[in-house]
This record gives sequence, structure tokens and C-alpha cells, in this order.
Amino acid sequence: MDKLAIVVPCYNEEEVLETASEALRGVLDDLIRKEKIAEDSFILFVNDGSKDKTWELIEKEHATFPTKVCGVKLAGNVGHQSALTAGLLTAMEMSDVTVSIDADLQDDILVIEEMIDKFHAGNDIIYGVRKERKTDTFFKRVTAQGFYKLMAVMGVKTVYNHADFRLMSKRAIEHFSQFKETNMYLRGMMPLIGYNTDSVYYDRKERVAGESKYPLKKMLALAFNGISSFSIKPISMIMGLGMIIILCSILAAIYALVSYFTGNVEPGWTSLILSIWFLGGLQLMAIGMVGLYIGKIYMEVKHRPRYNIEKVLK
Ligand code: UDP
Ligand code: MG
Repeated sequence: MDKLAIVVPCYNEEEVLETASEALRGVLDDLIRKEKIAEDSFILFVNDGSKDKTWELIEKEHATFPTKVCGVKLAGNVGHQSALTAGLLTAMEMSDVTVSIDADLQDDILVIEEMIDKFHAGNDIIYGVRKERKTDTFFKRVTAQGFYKLMAVMGVKTVYNHADFRLMSKRAIEHFSQFKETNMYLRGMMPLIGYNTDSVYYDRKERVAGESKYPLKKMLALAFNGISSFSIKPISMIMGLGMIIILCSILAAIYALVSYFTGNVEPGWTSLILSIWFLGGLQLMAIGMVGLYIGKIYMEVKHRPRYNIEKVLK
């Protein structure tokens, strides 16, 4: 029987922690009763440097349910993605399969069973995908959907409407642990792991209590981090722009020369306007070209694993 670890990153979640613990323990008990997971399965709360009573509550839960609730305390706030990574890598040592979920229970805990079923059917990563966003505010909905669209345009492969609610097998996390980059964008990294994957669909609920720890500022930072960690498309866009401007400079040249030969231009205007267009384009293209190399260096220094061998027949 596989031992499940439910990994929950928590930042200032004192209002929801006990509710979350109770609900998730319920899920574990249910799955254990149905003999889908091992009896020593557990919840792993990761305290991401909370400033409130979150850690005290985790300690209390651990004291009351020593086998069911475990905790990791990070020394400071490192942000959702890094906190989750800390949790996954810790859980990897202690379990066979993990499910990561937010503390606010916006994601439907009832589909965890479906995730486990799909895991037993031979999948290594199961993405939790939101069907609709009825409960989100208009603003959150529009910005979040814009976020996924922007990522797609920028060439970052992600699962649409999937956040960080996902199941991962031990070997998937083991491969993930070889990604040594510090700027984590988990949603973009998981599809690079490979293996069989599947999705489960659910309706996203409202936060049980407390408020979103992802204000617009953090969301923009996440989007920017995602793009700049996964794609050097912005650089090639600059290069493309440079080429377009050089093409425009040909048109500008024709216009300037025609004006020159038909008379009535100020002396010096023709050479000035030609230089401005041509040099502008040339400079943009040169910056883009240098950028392409920097982009390559950037991708190289990440030292990402180049492949993931699933099986060898000998
Ligand atoms: N979180 C974290 N560190 C942070 C910010 C958020 O560990 O610096 C956790 C938070 O406690 C929650 C999850 O990340 O469990 C997602 O945050 P939230 O639910 O506030 O985001 P939203 O659902 O509004 O996008
Ligand atoms: Mg939330």
C-alpha cells in the first residue's frame, strides 16, 4: 500500500489551519478505510515564516495527532513556490506519493481520491484543474486567466487553469529534485518531468477564512518569474522588432530620397532621417543578438537535467 503525504504550504494561515487539518485528516481516514493508501499516511504542513500563530497551531496539531500531522518550519518567508518545494522534497523521503494543496481549502479535497485512483492506474503526475471560476471575484478571474494566456503566448508550457494542486509520485519528485534552479516556477517545471500524466477537474471554492496571500503584486511577480525562467522569447521579440525597423528604414529611405530629388527639403534632413531609422533598427537587432547569447547562458547555468530515463531494458 502506498504511503501518502499531503503537503500544505502555510503563510499566516492561523484562521484556517485547524479547519484544514481536520478536513484533510478526514480525507486520509476515508482513503485508509477504503484501503487506497497506507495507514501511516500523513499531512505535512510547511510553515513559510508566518508572523502569526500558524506554527504554534501546527505544533499543537502534531501533539494531538502525532502520526497524522507533521510539520516543517522554514526559518523565514521564502514564498509559496519555494515553501512548496521544501515540503515536497521533505515528503519525498518519508512517503511514496504526495499531493500538494493550499491551506485555504479552495481546491476540492474530495478529488484527492480520484487522484489516487489515477495514480494507481499508472500515472506519475496528476494535475488538479479548475473547471470554472465562479467563486472568484471578477478581478481575480480576469487577471488569473490573463496570466495563463500570457504564459502561453510567451511560450511557457503550462496546464491551463492548473495551480499547485497536484499529485506527484516519489520518482517524479526525485527527478524534480534534480532541477537546481533557485527561481522556482513549479507549474512550468512539472511538465518537463515527463512520465504519464493525467488531470482531475473540480470547481474552485471560496477561501474558508482569512484573505488571499497572493495580491496582484505577488501574482505579477509570479508571472514575470515564470516567463523569465522559462522563455527567452522576450529577447527574440526585441530582435524581431529590430528587423522590422530595419525594413521600415528601407521605406523611410525611399521616402527621404524621393523628397530629396523632388526638391524642397532642408539641407541635412535626408542623411539625418536615414541614419536615425537605420541605426535605430541596427541597434535593436544588435541588442537582441547579444541578448540571445545571454539567454543561452541563462538557460545553461540552470543545469537542468536534460532527460529523465524511465526504463532501461538489459
Ligand atoms: N503561501 C505561502 N507563502 C507565501 C504566500 C502564500 O506558503 O509567501 C501559501 C498560502 O498559505 C496558501 C497558498 O500559498 O496555502 C496559496 O495562497 P493563497 O490561497 O492566498 O493564494 P490564492 O488562492 O489567493 O491565489
Ligand atoms: Mg487560495
